[in-house]
Amino acid sequence: MGRLSGKRAIVTGAGSGIGRASALLFAREGAKLVIVDRVEDAVDETAAAIRAEGGTVFSVAADVSDEAAVNGFVDHCVSEFGGVDVVYANAGISGGMVPLQEQTVPYWQEILAVNLIGPFLAIKAASPHMIKQGKGSIICTASVAGLRANAGGTPYSASKAGVISLVQTVANELYGTGVRVNAICPGLIETGMTKPIFDGARARGTDDKIGQLNPLKRYGLPPEIAQAALFLASDDASYVNGQAIPVDGGLSSTHPFAGRR
Ligand code: NAP
Repeated sequence: MGRLSGKRAIVTGAGSGIGRASALLFAREGAKLVIVDRVEDAVDETAAAIRAEGGTVFSVAADVSDEAAVNGFVDHCVSEFGGVDVVYANAGISGGMVPLQEQTVPYWQEILAVNLIGPFLAIKAASPHMIKQGKGSIICTASVAGLRANAGGTPYSASKAGVISLVQTVANELYGTGVRVNAICPGLIETGMTKPIFDGARARGTDDKIGQLNPLKRYGLPPEIAQAALFLASDDASYVNGQAIPVDGGLSSTHPFAGRR
């Protein structure tokens, strides 16, 4: 028996990075899955890897900021599997680093649409099914950038602070329903999103500097975030609700400190 045996789960952003690692882990732990990404080939590749290990999965190419598309993949999970127990609203974009005076309203809107409205839409579509069941787990990927500055651009950080508020407020809006809503705040993880940072550092020969700011003195890998998502998805986290949990090697635990050796 896996930790998600019998559970029906949706994972977004599953074509890459944290979402792909989480989808693979959820499937290994017995979940039946609907996985989503905006690029069909990428999400199909994840689905093929899950099927190769004997898992049950449907892959959907969809934009998580499009309400009709979100309703579509949630309905797909309900019609294929008879319900939805877990939603991991993980898809996100970084938007890069744009100087304040060059930031435009459409630039902000795109980042907020994917990173914040996307999780809202997933919660809105899935929660009625979970409420009917009297149980469910919703997980969103926030970021250490949502806790304090210097881990991403301005709209990205604001969107992730919004995700933290979203899980706190929705957990309370769903008072008494049995539905849990939590967020994970990853630190620096090597994924498609952070590839330019890693590529740049490797090209400059400074890759030994990456991830040195946290007390574990290293960057993280997608399966390390997937393990936190697995915990929150599973009944092991049955009393964890309304929380934003950093998984960051300790990065968010510290004030700037000049005395490191
Ligand atoms: P990733 O490798 O780029 O994976 C994110 C996936 O989401 C990509 O396949 C991406 O597609 C997809 N996506 C983006 N916009 C979408 C949309 N509108 N609809 C559907 N899918 C969409 O990056 P990741 O690091 O695993 O990111 C996963 C989550 O972790 C994000 O929410 C990110 O903000 C968060 N996070 C990452 C880090 C880190 O250090 N990596 C740290 C903190 C938080 P495209 O490749 O086509 O954009």
